[in-house]
Amino acid sequence: MGLGNFFKNIFGKKTCAFCGGECGMLNRTKIKGDEYICGKCDDMCSFHIQKYRFTKDELRGHMEYMKRSDRIYKEVALNGARSERFPSATSRQGIEFFDDIGMFRIIDGSKDNKENYPKEMFRYDQVANYEPYIDESEETDENGKKKMVFGEGGIKITLVGCMDDTSTMRKGLRAHPYITEEITVCFATNDREKENYLKYADNAIHHFDYIFGVHDNESALFSFGMNKKEKRDLMGAIGFAKTAIDAVKVAKDGGEISEEKKAEIQANLNAMEDADTDGLAKYTRAADAAEAKIQ
Ligand SMILES: [Zn+2]
Repeated sequence: MGLGNFFKNIFGKKTCAFCGGECGMLNRTKIKGDEYICGKCDDMCSFHIQKYRFTKDELRGHMEYMKRSDRIYKEVALNGARSERFPSATSRQGIEFFDDIGMFRIIDGSKDNKENYPKEMFRYDQVANYEPYIDESEETDENGKKKMVFGEGGIKITLVGCMDDTSTMRKGLRAHPYITEEITVCFATNDREKENYLKYADNAIHHFDYIFGVHDNESALFSFGMNKKEKRDLMGAIGFAKTAIDAVKVAKDGGEISEEKKAEIQANLNAMEDADTDGLAKYTRAADAAEAKIQ
């Protein structure tokens, strides 16, 4: 290859594998198989995936996936599901929780207003881990004193796909179909915002704790009743006993099970599942139901 070709290859225009449009060097990303995606088509993908890892066909499938995600947001989440946002408004990033449908999304001030960009929903049961992060660096001021300077802070979310060791993973989790990298949600990027926004990060962590039942085995100091985990375990045990009795009855008497009985058995099975997954199964059912609505 001559030098001319070499430069042409790098600086020359390429054709987008998706829309067929021309894309310049600054406005394209290389994907697997020596093809390119233009900026506009890139906007139809998740900003949490590395495009070079995917082929054209895989990215086409991904764009369909993102369209369905956008529909879940617009047709199901915005259609009466309760939401909690941390922070309530931001020009940076934040998290919006939809407990009713077992999903959350990442608010992004720079992406959310783009017309092409579909809203991306994540299922609670895809989250393997979450933790706060702060990037600080040591700097020396004019008097020679060292001080810590805040860079940015927020929370990091690890989905099932980037867990190396799944043996310690909680029960009931499932893999995300595309994302294998850690997700960084940046709440604050300068010192002025630091305190306020890290409070929101803290609130978001608390909400994840609530979803994953982290404090469910703690009783309030002066409470004599059962804590949430004990109640859930008890309901699971009762559900198991009732289901066993129902199964014996059906086996003995044979015949049809009434709709009412079926619903009762399902509720008992759900209680068992909830106890087995520390409450996560409730959100799995909610997310399944939300996905089914847009099929
Ligand atoms: Zn394109």
